Amino acid sequence: MRHPEQVPTDYDLSPPAEVLARQLIQRWDMHSRQSTFGDMYYTVHEPLSVAHLFAHLRGEITLGTYLLNAQSQGRFLVLDADTLDEWQQLTHLYQRLEAMDTPGYLEQSRRGGHLWLFFDRWLPGAQIRLFGNGLLAAHEMTRIELYPKQDQLEEGPGSLIRLPFGIHRKDRKRYGFVTPTGELLAPTLRDQVKLFYRPQTVPKAVLATLTTVGQSLPSSNRFGGVTAAESRISHTDETTPLSEQIKAAVTVSAFIGRYVALSARGSGLCPFHDDHHPSFSVNDEGNYWHCFACNTGGSIIDFWMQKQGCDFVTAVRELVAQLL
Ligand SMILES: [Zn+2]
Repeated sequence: MRHPEQVPTDYDLSPPAEVLARQLIQRWDMHSRQSTFGDMYYTVHEPLSVAHLFAHLRGEITLGTYLLNAQSQGRFLVLDADTLDEWQQLTHLYQRLEAMDTPGYLEQSRRGGHLWLFFDRWLPGAQIRLFGNGLLAAHEMTRIELYPKQDQLEEGPGSLIRLPFGIHRKDRKRYGFVTPTGELLAPTLRDQVKLFYRPQTVPKAVLATLTTVGQSLPSSNRFGGVTAAESRISHTDETTPLSEQIKAAVTVSAFIGRYVALSARGSGLCPFHDDHHPSFSVNDEGNYWHCFACNTGGSIIDFWMQKQGCDFVTAVRELVAQLL
């Protein structure tokens, strides 16, 4: 890697192979490889070895990595964007997570990319998926695919994703980890790999909050399921975002009327500025509120965010608890 043309030695490859082994490989009793033309992965019922990792880093083979171990536990989840539009959604999500002190890792791929989130310990697949579904629902990203796709392994090793730092067999490209604007996080493979020596993990509070959001979702709103029945539901019925369910659960006048004295016509004193004439009004037909003096307004979620001084995800969680 010091000279890109030179074939790296096992000595060069030991640090990155160690990072793959420690952080990104979750089972060793079997492994999966991308087919020659990159169209699919096939299972190899042989143990994964360090030699395989070296071959992956050299680009001789391309490995997949399983999302769950044999006990149906994992230490990371991956959100998969298959189109540029979805990739943009993922970069926004990355930034919103960053604002909540929740670091993710954006990795480019052939058609879009992945957002990786790491946990500080092994978690059951079911909890990872509650958290992941809560995260997607809270940000209204119903199209993004969530890995792992299984709560619990039944037969076979379950879902997998391309192991980072190799090449894609289809276009022979080596994709890296990037900033939301697409610049590489570090210039060389070796430096990129260092970032994962100890990946930053999802804070406990965020994990708990979004798991609760996931638990509050009706099962048809849990995205990325794999059973045939589930995938039929999510492909034929538009799933309703959680935020829309909240807005549909109560009229703005009924909800805001708990906190603001409203006239029969739906106006009152604005709680968000020092109001002496009723500047604040609600509109049940349009399902919004507005204050023409401080020029704020929106849905009941916006009202709650402003009233509590909280972010969107917290507001959704608290309103789900109150209303759904
Ligand atoms: Zn106001």
